[in-house]
Amino acid sequence: MLAAGPVYTRERGGGANLALAMNFDFSPEEGAFQAEVEAFLAQNQSPDVMDTNPEQLSQTVDTPAKRAFMAQLAEQGWLGMSWPKAYGGAELPGIYDFLLTESLARWGAPQPGKGVGIVGKTIIRHGNEKLKSYFLPRIIRGEIEFAIGYSEPQAGSDAANMQLKAERDGAGWRINGQKIWTTSAHFADWYWFGARTDPAASKHRGITLFLLEMNHPGLTIRPTWTIGDERTNEVFFDDVWVSDDFVVGEAHHGWTYICEALDLERFAMMPVGPLEKKVEALCEYLASGERDGESLKQTAHVRQTTAQLVTQLEVARMLQRRVISEAIKGGVPTVESSMYKLFMTQLGQRVSNAALDLLGPEGQLKPGQDGAPLAGRFERSYRYTVVDTIGGGTSEIQKNIIARRGLDLPFRN
Ligand SMILES: Cc1cc2nc3c(=O)[nH]c(=O)nc-3n(C[C@H](O)[C@H](O)[C@H](O)COP(=O)(O)OP(=O)(O)OC[C@H]3O[C@@H](n4cnc5c(N)ncnc54)[C@H](O)[C@@H]3O)c2cc1C
Repeated sequence: MLAAGPVYTRERGGGANLALAMNFDFSPEEGAFQAEVEAFLAQNQSPDVMDTNPEQLSQTVDTPAKRAFMAQLAEQGWLGMSWPKAYGGAELPGIYDFLLTESLARWGAPQPGKGVGIVGKTIIRHGNEKLKSYFLPRIIRGEIEFAIGYSEPQAGSDAANMQLKAERDGAGWRINGQKIWTTSAHFADWYWFGARTDPAASKHRGITLFLLEMNHPGLTIRPTWTIGDERTNEVFFDDVWVSDDFVVGEAHHGWTYICEALDLERFAMMPVGPLEKKVEALCEYLASGERDGESLKQTAHVRQTTAQLVTQLEVARMLQRRVISEAIKGGVPTVESSMYKLFMTQLGQRVSNAALDLLGPEGQLKPGQDGAPLAGRFERSYRYTVVDTIGGGTSEIQKNIIARRGLDLPFRN
């Protein structure tokens, strides 16, 4: 077990009193599973499926090869490992989902995140029989891709402010309005989204969660390209009718399920592997590189900068393990997750920034341009990592959570 016994305690009182004691060894079974996954990935290594320069949260490309790879993961029994046996799972602890996701992310391979985690686990807990019998077998066979629609023009950090309008119409709901930033909408099969079904209720009430086929008439998807060359989308609803059968859980209780799904997913949300690979690649390059006839590794500035980055990477790993340790004990690691997300995504920016500095003027050449060091990886990374500190909750929001919930520093007007 990752964290046997009372290995991590946080003492509150008086604010910033964080006392830690941790033991992060994996059990022999967990270690064996990790080795099995790594061997599988080495054997099935393919540029059609794996991004050799993976970014932290990148998951926005879909191809037949990637779908086939997901089916292979399913055949291995690695999708839904922590689901109940009654729904095809293995009832393994969530640490197995984490180990799988970390390895997949490190290799730049597709990850099962949204379907198995957010959608599958919420349907298991709250879905009606029809949703269970349709979606769960398909998710566990790796057949469906989902897009998640919470954000709207007036609802980002404050997602509970969503205004997409769903009005009662017969045995279902008629939906009009707009979502933004829906990553994967252009290739997903199903849309998992929240809409306001009771405008008279307070902000956190009156939201309902729905499932809708992505090719449903009345749904329009338009691309939004990010600074990191990645596509996300605006989604417009024009008189879209959804049957009650596709309401998840109880109407008007959607916000509770959205928050619960986030809690269930903390294991597998933000792998550190891609950042590790980036730092490794940078160190290898610097170890053998030269500038103006001088070995880079002999340069004091290069040595000091890389030593600092590697040290900070170790801090990120430890923060991630605190999230896992707390979750394994059955806790809800909200503060730990915020600390990890804040530090890890800002470290991603520091690494790219330092890399561009250390690589010299050529470091600004883009992927595909002649003479780009490390195939332009850090030029792309410099732009991409801007997005990491926004998606999944901005850095300011993480700081608010740490201050308010971790340090008892509530904000009052
Ligand atoms: C590439 C990308 C992919 C995304 N994918 C999805 C997706 O698939 N599905 C989905 O639903 N959403 C998605 N999002 C949306 C993402 O969750 C939001 O962008 C994020 O929550 C921030 O919301 P916002 O963009 O509306 O910014 P705002 O909330 O408007 O924030 C603007 C600025 O104000 C700051 N701020 C806001 N509130 C506070 C506060 N209380 N205290 C201090 N500072 C504050 C923010 O930190 C930020 O700097 C994605 C976003 C990006 C960039």
